[in-house]
Amino acid sequence: MQFIDLAAQQKRIRPQIEAGFRRILDHGQYILGPEIRELEDKLAAFTGAPYAVAVASGTDALLMPLMVENIGPGDAVFTSTFTFIATAEVIRLLGATPVFVDIDSETFNVDPQKLEAEIERVKAEKKLRPRGIIPVDLFGQPADYRAIQAIADKYNLFVLEDAAQSFGASQKGKKAGALTTVAATSFFPAKPLGCYGDGGMIFSDDRNIYEQLLSIRVHGQGVDKYNNVRVGINGRMDSLQAAVLLAKMEIFAEEIELRQEVAARYSMLLEGAVKVPRILPENISAWAQYSVLHPRREELIKKLRESNIPTTIYYPIPLHLQQAFADLGYRENDFPAAEKIAGEIFSLPMHPYLEKETQEKICQIILGEE
Ligand SMILES: *Cc1c(COP(=O)(O)O)cnc(C)c1O
Repeated sequence: MQFIDLAAQQKRIRPQIEAGFRRILDHGQYILGPEIRELEDKLAAFTGAPYAVAVASGTDALLMPLMVENIGPGDAVFTSTFTFIATAEVIRLLGATPVFVDIDSETFNVDPQKLEAEIERVKAEKKLRPRGIIPVDLFGQPADYRAIQAIADKYNLFVLEDAAQSFGASQKGKKAGALTTVAATSFFPAKPLGCYGDGGMIFSDDRNIYEQLLSIRVHGQGVDKYNNVRVGINGRMDSLQAAVLLAKMEIFAEEIELRQEVAARYSMLLEGAVKVPRILPENISAWAQYSVLHPRREELIKKLRESNIPTTIYYPIPLHLQQAFADLGYRENDFPAAEKIAGEIFSLPMHPYLEKETQEKICQIILGEE
């Protein structure tokens, strides 16, 4: 069986995807074709964010807003230690310093109190300039934007939402992507909304940021690609990926509903046997992952593997302990909540087409009834 079953989904929309590909083969605009604008308009309307910029990956979607903010050496950008490497990698790529923050043990998202303590520490040290915060909506659940925005306002920092896992989620009725001034999402195939290659999108409510992003996306172009007003990147999404996403958007809202049902069934069956995810009342998760905790997870993972049921560990090593960031000087026990969870967490198969019988079988194995 599959961790994420993309074939079941493809079966539903294959004719639409093929028709989209055919149109592109006919018009021949493989880069920034009309599908890109159509997708940007559709997703802006879906999230409620006024502006959307389609880009080549979720990583570029995180990098480009930092370029707009002129992030560079001497700058501190605060982010969760319990996330995918890309969140912090983009800070480092620009020569700035990622300052890691420990997580809330219930939501796995950055803990606002610990965030403020880190900002105070960096300010007192006077070595780095605090500039911004990248909260991560881990596994599809939005971070605490009310508390984080209040801290950002107090210290005059920007907030860039890493919504790579939360496209389709919401908080107090507002969609991920529209919870802050600027947000980045990813369309890597395994994300809640995935294309058939790499892709991403940036959302913003600020016209000035939007216009700079359009320029950065095409090598810092001015009036055209051969007039360059800043240093940019090749950050474009190709038209074929937009065609896939347009077809998938037709069924996406329904898929988010199906994900709620799958998650609710897991939680009902597994409550008590493992620690099941906690979604705060103000949030609806996009359920990019269904992740549980157990102090002896290796035994459970082994039993599941013996029945051909795949699991994954997101994430075995918090970023502050990754070799890539060894020069930042973090040590074990710096962030106890993230380190404890990294040792107990694992994710179960999760997608909208997971059948009830399959879920029951998975849960029976975990419950030791098999
Ligand atoms: C997937 C992911 C990214 C990067 O997205 P890509 O499209 O793979 O570049 C960034 N942050 C988080 C939290 C992710 O899960």
